Amino acid sequence: MRAIVVSDVSEYSVENVPDPVPRAGDVVVEVKASGLCGTDVHLVRGELTPLSYPFTPGHEVAGIVADVGGDPTAPREGSRVAVHPFIECGSCATCRAGRPNICAFPTMIGAGGRAGGCSEYIAVPARKVYPLGDLSFAAGVIAEPLACVVHALSRVVAPAERVLVVGGGVSGSLFFDLLTARDAPSVVVVDTAPGKRRAATARGADAVYYSVDEAIEAHGANFDLVVDAVGAPGIFERAVDAVAVGGDILQFGIPGDQVRASFSPGLLYRKEFRVIGCRGLGDDYPAAIDYLREGAVDWASLVEPPVGLDSFGPALEDVETGRVQRSILAP
Ligand SMILES: [Zn+2]
Ligand SMILES: [Zn+2]
Repeated sequence: MRAIVVSDVSEYSVENVPDPVPRAGDVVVEVKASGLCGTDVHLVRGELTPLSYPFTPGHEVAGIVADVGGDPTAPREGSRVAVHPFIECGSCATCRAGRPNICAFPTMIGAGGRAGGCSEYIAVPARKVYPLGDLSFAAGVIAEPLACVVHALSRVVAPAERVLVVGGGVSGSLFFDLLTARDAPSVVVVDTAPGKRRAATARGADAVYYSVDEAIEAHGANFDLVVDAVGAPGIFERAVDAVAVGGDILQFGIPGDQVRASFSPGLLYRKEFRVIGCRGLGDDYPAAIDYLREGAVDWASLVEPPVGLDSFGPALEDVETGRVQRSILAP
């Protein structure tokens, strides 16, 4: 079968590789759509460590179950599914505590652990595929980042009535949609990119700003919930200023290892805000797929028409430069 093989930092090609060999408990999925996101950019550029080469990227995957290997409990062959890309070990302390997303020994599909969806077929554990029903494969791709957002919002303690979302990309847009679906009275969006500010306005954001400072100037330090959906330097410090007394800061974007933040612990004392980490996704796929099915999420505005494996390079660059929100490969 054909697959993208990343052999070193920023070195990749389409290659003929052996068909995936399913392990016990696996099913084989014929990939119909594989999303490319900022994580893939970081992976291909060698900015996320540790990572071993070669690997096949693609962790936002939807397709058709092609082989269940005789497992009667697996979804039927021919069913349309989305693939949960994070495989927890199931036995470490955090897994036993019911927090598989922070497993100590995880395996990521498409991030070096197991071959990802930028290929014609992948083998994945049967328990990691979720029926899509009649949802499109592109919607199935969005199920992955949406499940991460569902997980993140499950960690919020404050009432989340006045919300500041930093970042108007796919994640920020999904936060906006879910918060709106949950009747948040006010969601303000910040992004430095004019196109993403226009998109946030089109989505119905109460207000849209270039910077957190502008948002504070207009609304005061009154945000019950501040979501950093970017992870860039400087955002955390500004979030500390923007968050209301008793509010929450969600660290959703992934800051690089070199990013540092400095702020006055006195603010933490006086405002009694919470800083909440949220990593990946746990058992959040069914809820994410339900949101997609209910139409709570405008996923169609976030995805590009699918392109073939041969267009992997340009499709990745489109994401990297911010020209598109989400590239989709159809292997
Ligand atoms: Zn992703
Ligand atoms: Zn574990």
